[in-house]
Amino acid sequence: MNYRSLGQTGLRVSVIGFGGVPINRVCPELALKTLHRAFDLGVNFIDTARSYGDSEEKIGLGLEQYGTAATKIILATKSMVRDARGMAEDIETSLKMLRTDHIHLYQVHDPDPSGLDTVLGPGGAMEALREARDAGKIGHIGVSGHRPQVLIPAMETGLFETVQMPLNIIDYPLFKDNIPVATRRDMGIIVMKPLCGGLLKSPPRALRFVLSNPVSTAIPGMDSPEQVEENVASGREEIDLSEVDIAHLEAEAEELGKEFCRRCGYCKDCPVNLDIPEVFRFDRYYTSYFAKDWAQEQYADLDVTVEACLDCGGCEESCPYQLPVRRKLREAHDRLSGDDT
Ligand code: SF4
Ligand code: SF4
Repeated sequence: MNYRSLGQTGLRVSVIGFGGVPINRVCPELALKTLHRAFDLGVNFIDTARSYGDSEEKIGLGLEQYGTAATKIILATKSMVRDARGMAEDIETSLKMLRTDHIHLYQVHDPDPSGLDTVLGPGGAMEALREARDAGKIGHIGVSGHRPQVLIPAMETGLFETVQMPLNIIDYPLFKDNIPVATRRDMGIIVMKPLCGGLLKSPPRALRFVLSNPVSTAIPGMDSPEQVEENVASGREEIDLSEVDIAHLEAEAEELGKEFCRRCGYCKDCPVNLDIPEVFRFDRYYTSYFAKDWAQEQYADLDVTVEACLDCGGCEESCPYQLPVRRKLREAHDRLSGDDT
């Protein structure tokens, strides 16, 4: 495994890190096997969040069961709380869930512009993060987000040592301007969604693309030992991105288009509880994978379908990729309910 510096933190992280979202969807046994396979293969950076279901809890258990060798693992987590009191509580909860007395990196999770102001203002979350750092409960403070227009001003405050953002062939145009800002400030860059939520067909090629940039680590989400093995193989190689690789990636990007759901889950507060990313997943199966009948059956089995939509627009306000969610939902509904003929 190759390792790189995480900005000025003094930490050396594996170029393939562990994205902690998917293990919240699998049973504890499989989660632990997956984590331990990653540790065995040299992955030493693991990223999770308060909001990723039981991910922190499973990671805590995985670390405990890995024994003393787990002390080499660098832990990162994050919270969406914006005020000092709530952030202090979340840090304590993360410490408890992760079964540790020190978290190497604690990140402010996906602030919007007003959220960033609250975090940095009087009584904001930054106060609690600094207190926790002074007390040795956390080592470093970072920011993580899907909104390039917020991440740049956040980085320019000089208050964060790392930045976490999506980077892949599709999202590159949105986030490429963040890279020089981070490198000028010697911030560690943590890359989420390097495989674009699993949509890119060749993980090795997608990871080579990400790692050819001046980033510290790419953290694909993984929920099986086999996925770990496939991804880790890219972290052992010299990074050699050929023109053929780029041509393949560009062709994939064109095929996917720009208006597609990244399954980030930020639209989860739909007032009628429509599972929006799931609707889009079924629609992708319908349109791309010759699985029309299966996709229609799955859609019909949902507790709530697009017919229940109140047209409130909340999903579009919360979507960091500015997708026209309502129009796309209606189009998906027409296909999945057989009304598009
Ligand atoms: S517009 Fe429809 S799908 Fe979007 S949040 Fe409102 S009710 Fe839910
Ligand atoms: S619709 Fe937007 S907010 Fe919802 S999961 Fe997809 S990309 Fe994320």
